[in-house]
Amino acid sequence: MSLYEVPITKLSGIGEKRAALFAKLGIRSVGDMITYYPRSYSDWSNITNIADIQPETTCVVKARVMTPVNSIRISGGRIMSKLSVADDSGYLNLVFFNNKYISSMLRFGETYVFMGKVTRDRYGFQMTSPEFNKLNDQTEITPVYHLTAGLNNHMMIRAAKEALSMLPELIRDPLPYDIQKHYDLCPLSYALHHIHFPSDNLSMEKARRRLVFEELLTLNLGMRLMKSQSKEQTAIRMPEDFTKSFIKNLPFELTGAQQRAVTDCVNDMRHKINPMNRLIQGDVGSGKTAVCAAVCWQTVKSGYQAAFMAPTEILAQQHYETFLKMFEGTGIRIDLLIGSMTVSEKRKIRARVETGESDIVIGTHALVSESTVFARLGCAITDEQHRFGVAQRARLASKGEHPHVLVLSATPIPRTLGLIIYGDLDITIIDELPPGRTEVDTFLIGSDKRDRALGFLKKQVDEGRQCYIVCPLVEESEGVDELQNANDYAADLMLGPFRDISVGILHGKMKTKDKERVMARFAANEISVLVSTTVVEVGVDVRNATVMMIENAERFGLSTLHQLRGRVGRGEHKSYCILVSDNSGENTEQRLGVMCRTNNGFEIADMDLKLRGPGDFFGSRQHGLPQLAIADFSDTETLAQSQDAAELILQISPDLSNEALRPLKAKIRRLFETTENTMN
Ligand code: ADP
Ligand code: MG
Repeated sequence: MSLYEVPITKLSGIGEKRAALFAKLGIRSVGDMITYYPRSYSDWSNITNIADIQPETTCVVKARVMTPVNSIRISGGRIMSKLSVADDSGYLNLVFFNNKYISSMLRFGETYVFMGKVTRDRYGFQMTSPEFNKLNDQTEITPVYHLTAGLNNHMMIRAAKEALSMLPELIRDPLPYDIQKHYDLCPLSYALHHIHFPSDNLSMEKARRRLVFEELLTLNLGMRLMKSQSKEQTAIRMPEDFTKSFIKNLPFELTGAQQRAVTDCVNDMRHKINPMNRLIQGDVGSGKTAVCAAVCWQTVKSGYQAAFMAPTEILAQQHYETFLKMFEGTGIRIDLLIGSMTVSEKRKIRARVETGESDIVIGTHALVSESTVFARLGCAITDEQHRFGVAQRARLASKGEHPHVLVLSATPIPRTLGLIIYGDLDITIIDELPPGRTEVDTFLIGSDKRDRALGFLKKQVDEGRQCYIVCPLVEESEGVDELQNANDYAADLMLGPFRDISVGILHGKMKTKDKERVMARFAANEISVLVSTTVVEVGVDVRNATVMMIENAERFGLSTLHQLRGRVGRGEHKSYCILVSDNSGENTEQRLGVMCRTNNGFEIADMDLKLRGPGDFFGSRQHGLPQLAIADFSDTETLAQSQDAAELILQISPDLSNEALRPLKAKIRRLFETTENTMN
């Protein structure tokens, strides 16, 4: 039996309740635990004397507990625990948040090794929420895992250890032996053990390289297989070009780039043997919707239906309204299908789709549900495609007989890497904004200027405009949760500078429905200032919003900042982006400086890649690819090798039917299944 079929509850100390926490991290089985790789490692061997500690650094100290643990309740119902430890050179204060067990874990008079970030306040040095180990069960390099509230690193380490011990002596290695040998890769078993518990840096690197290679190879093969599948289909032919008449009736003239995009699509639909399979990449506000409307027109005029899928209800609704206007008087029948409609409404719409009464259907993933059947789907379009998985896109397409497929994306991917990411798609880039768009003025300020900035926001609101504020990001270790933090932040505003202003909150932990309600109220200008924790819903067009203020701007990637900034400057009003950051590191200033200097998404993406390295860039999971467990494209050499290997393998066995490739094939299937689960 595969360890992927052994539930995580088989591990000691993991009951149903704790299993639910593991599930939050995507770990449901023992196999999942084994492939839940550490995000980094702690090196416990480098011990610092307390007297030599530098503030604002992470360090390891070996120290004795000198006081009992003193716990008090602080604001927000949180518990703060304090104690003092010492080594021969001095004293250090430790602080923990919301950890009821600290007093039983750290015993008075005993010595432990602590690792954490040290700060200085008026009482001296302080280490906040350090990790610690008993002096004796000390390994040198320990794994550090991504956690969720309720699970600490110790529990993860224990689970990983036990899970690894359940691996059979001989495990089936998905990498054929020849490939392993040719690329000098260690066997899977070695890799799995050493990625969690490396004996030294070298073994960790070896393990990592092997796992990255395997994952990139899997990804590569999967993308190539998908492309070759779509190659085998015959396209619906649309002999005529109908778009001219549609474009003539638009209230604006298409930009050159929009025109080229329409032409690319129409050429695909008219002349290609295989269905269109195209990605249109265009910066926020570049007018992808109009291009997509032209493609829908082409489809309907050729006698087929078009489907247009958006990631959220509010976006779908907005597209629906835009389309109603654009297609007014044409006789083309447009319908909206979203999850929150009543059952009978949905049934009515689905009946119209099935009988062919509706020509264009716009909706959310309700469109891909089994009960949606199309009479003659000719073109399937997905908006903001990075929010959907590759699999979902495929599912929409499966609603017709090899319909044409178009995906729209506002996430600029550096050209050099587009090929890998969108290996299965042809790409059109819209690199021009509609005329008359004024650039968003961007400013970088320190938090000492925050009050002035808030005063500026208030003035904008007084003039009838609306503002977004992305509030500070918090990390779990800081003992504050995301929701609490957003609420506190908004409360401060509502009690202070924004007393007379309607403030709304949007955070990642809200139910989708509630989120959409808040967004809808913002869109209707019932909320003037929207405080949000994570990313403001992508693509929503609130033309009246003129200020985007982002706290802790240094914690975001440039591409995310650019996306956020794209929420403003969509109407006729002059718009502003205010980045708040106290981090004065050289890299930070350089990065945020780029934002102030340019509004060009591609330039920013290229810069982002250069300054942060591709690891972080792709780490943000903004591209609709399967979620990778370990690879991050930063190792271009391994990437190139895995591409070679993929080609080699497909030459030998184009459909991977070769017996030796069975485990690899299973891996591909699993990797692409995960895309479906990452939605929302
Ligand atoms: P995105 O590419 O981000 O989806 P949209 O399609 O939402 O951008 O377009 C942004 C705004 O620009 C819309 O209000 C749209 O009506 C307008 N627009 C699109 N194309 C043009 C154009 N060629 N000239 C003027 N305005 C345009
Ligand atoms: Mg859009």
